[in-house]
Amino acid sequence: MMAQYLALKAEAEDCLLFYRMGDFFELFFDDAKIASACLDIALTARGEHDGERIPMCGVPVHAMDGYLARLIKAGHRVAVAEQTETPEQARKRMGSKALVNRAIVRVVTAGTLTEEALLDSRSANWCVAIGEAATGVAIACADISTGRFEVCEGDAERMSAEIARLNPAETIVCDGTAFAELGTVVRPRVDFDSSDGEARLKRLFGVATLDGFGSFSRAALAAAGGLVAYLEHTAKGSLPFLRPPRLSRSDAVMAIDAATRESLELCVSQSGARKGSLLDSVDRTVTGAGARLLGQDIAAPLMDRAAIEARLDLVQRFHDDAGLRDMVRGSLRALPDIGRALGRLAAGRGSPRDLGQLRDGLDGAWRLGERLDAIPAPPPLLAELAPQLRGHGALIDLLGRALVPEPPIDSSNGGYIAEGYDAALDDLRDAGAGGRRAIAALEAEYRTRTGITALKVRHNGVLGYHIEVPARVADSLMRPDSGFTHRQTLAGVVRFNAPDLHDVAIKVTQAGAHALTAEAAHLEDLTGHALERREAIAATADALARIDVAAALAERAGEGGWARPALVDHACFEIVGGRHPVVEDAIARSGGRFVANDCRLSEDSRLWLVTGPNMGGKSTFLRQNALIAVLAQAGSYVPAASATLGLVDRLFSRVGASDNLARGRSTFMVEMVETAAILAQATPRSFVILDEVGRGTSTYDGLAIAWAVVEAIHEDNRCRCLFATHYHELTRLAERCDALTLHNVRAREYKGELVLLHEVAEGPADRSYGLAVARLAGLPPATIKRAKSVLDKLEAGRAKTGGIAAGLDDLPLFAAIAQAEVEKVDALRTELETLDVDALTPREALEALYRLKGLAGEAS
Ligand code: ATP
Repeated sequence: MMAQYLALKAEAEDCLLFYRMGDFFELFFDDAKIASACLDIALTARGEHDGERIPMCGVPVHAMDGYLARLIKAGHRVAVAEQTETPEQARKRMGSKALVNRAIVRVVTAGTLTEEALLDSRSANWCVAIGEAATGVAIACADISTGRFEVCEGDAERMSAEIARLNPAETIVCDGTAFAELGTVVRPRVDFDSSDGEARLKRLFGVATLDGFGSFSRAALAAAGGLVAYLEHTAKGSLPFLRPPRLSRSDAVMAIDAATRESLELCVSQSGARKGSLLDSVDRTVTGAGARLLGQDIAAPLMDRAAIEARLDLVQRFHDDAGLRDMVRGSLRALPDIGRALGRLAAGRGSPRDLGQLRDGLDGAWRLGERLDAIPAPPPLLAELAPQLRGHGALIDLLGRALVPEPPIDSSNGGYIAEGYDAALDDLRDAGAGGRRAIAALEAEYRTRTGITALKVRHNGVLGYHIEVPARVADSLMRPDSGFTHRQTLAGVVRFNAPDLHDVAIKVTQAGAHALTAEAAHLEDLTGHALERREAIAATADALARIDVAAALAERAGEGGWARPALVDHACFEIVGGRHPVVEDAIARSGGRFVANDCRLSEDSRLWLVTGPNMGGKSTFLRQNALIAVLAQAGSYVPAASATLGLVDRLFSRVGASDNLARGRSTFMVEMVETAAILAQATPRSFVILDEVGRGTSTYDGLAIAWAVVEAIHEDNRCRCLFATHYHELTRLAERCDALTLHNVRAREYKGELVLLHEVAEGPADRSYGLAVARLAGLPPATIKRAKSVLDKLEAGRAKTGGIAAGLDDLPLFAAIAQAEVEKVDALRTELETLDVDALTPREALEALYRLKGLAGEAS
């Protein structure tokens, strides 16, 4: 057995091996140590290997899902080795000492789950592969719990933003490529060969050409091929359900990099939980599929105005018609998750209950579709979605007739096929029931015959049907002429058989076994019928999710008094009465009131410099505007009285000196790396919020950097930008940068107390309130007093020298420096071009060299 175990383990070296033994999965050696610690189960030992006891632990087969979930969550991968024959078959093959054959039937990994118990019903579960070719980079992603399969191409930065958007459970990379460090799983190069990938995809979808799905680049084929190869590897050949790939260009969605997602807490809060995120505060969906889709929408705001307007039209319809919205949400709430049920059936892990869920879900969808068809003047998106809810009549009818009302998850005991569906099955069940009645009659007869009222006919896996009596009265049955045959003596009871019981028992057992076989055949057949329609069922599941999302956004908009955003072609950003949904909720819970603020960015005021006291609400103001852009382009109403905005192609959010110890970089380094990314990538259509950039270093360094960054954004990137700062000196930039305007969050000192008004007003902050905030925070009065005297000294010194910014007045603008630099290089080039080398005397040549050197010195 150990030889067999070790051979299997060698096949799955990077996994914990679950080795099936009867009713348990056993783990041995280091696997046992790891699993017992992680699962908090007993570590025992068994036999010996190389003179050492073999550590071992086990989990019962019926409780496997829960244990798997914990191991996967802890970052492990699990290979499941099943018995591939029965002990009888093994004995027939090899004699009485035969070892049952086993094989790894599946590798369970975080990215390839389908089980309800192992998945979060409200999040998608993406498995992503990154492919590279001379043409560029691409990623392929699949959620095999629902069959979604997408391929996306773009440049390297866009691709890492895409990966951040998907937040994959697993990332598959090719050995030895530039992206290797992003991967959680490294696979060999052969898996990522683009020609093999193309062949693999054609085989998978049974097509002669992929042209019908779009035009795939080499990188896209490498990524998709690598992903499919990995899925084949984990499923051990039987590939799960994948829908044809949807090819998208990454510029179809707003680019939001990982740092921005983190900083804006789009789908998870900074603590890593869903709670506290934008998604959580917006989500009013009533189905798991709706919640998953909303998460995807918020993670990937669209760039296509028509598509956004189509979503908004549907939200508006549900917003304006509360009766329709309630009807739709009521219907959806009752529906099972058909997308995931289909995923399990397609992966060969389906249960009778999954078929029952399809039946109920499709039936509910049909009825909802009929009601939606009847509504007058539906918005175009609804007119497109409603028909997709219907069209499964034959399947619903078949499953309705075939299945009992509540089919079980476990098929092994049968009982899920309805009476009347199959006459032969009904006969077998009648025979079984008749036999059981006959057994009950025999039991009564034996009691009368023996006079033992405690006599019982029982059943177990070893003896089958048998007679059991208490040991103290067993003697009479032991007599040879009693008509009973002794089978077993246990403490307290003795067990017997009898010929007539034996005869009836055989009939019951056979009828039961035949009935189970018949039910299993029906299960397979019904699953086959369902899978024939998998494309259409998946489309129905998608349509239901889209309707749920729209109705949920309408519900949220109604609750919060949100407005439909107006999208325009020019790069304006005009929010009236904007609010931060998460902060507003938190303040409302503690009985406070959120102060709404306007934000009006336009061509001649595209960069707002926001100053004001700590805790004044600068960060909140910056973020709420970024979130409004995300919500608007995701097709949602926004928390504002009104909003007009030109589409945002890239969104950036940077918070100065935020800790990122996990990434192993100092806080200031992170801040600068992220700021560099903005200056390199932001376009005039981008929206950037910068919060306290430059804070992570000394005052002079920080101010200098912040100054240069504001200039660069104003002159070069020319994007819409909100820049919050403590450096009051930066307000001087308003005199030089014509599209930069000054704003402040207002505060007042009233009777020595600081009152934060959280109101954004025009103009710079009138003064610094650091000490007042420190007092508010409870710094001891003596410390405050001391700080005040230090401050007075510093300010007196500053007044004498004219302050930090005094010398900055004559500093040429960033663009002016750059222009001067260009002019000098041009002069150098002209000088070189006009030099006729052949005509020079040695002396002239030397002079020319000096001249050039002089020019180069000035230019560098
Ligand atoms: P710091 O400079 O210290 O980072 P800040 O000016 O960025 O501070 P925020 O962090 O945005 O201030 O806000 C501080 C707190 O003030 C928030 O947690 C919130 O409770 C409250 N607040 C912010 N904006 C508003 C608002 N518009 N209405 C009501 N309360 C607000």
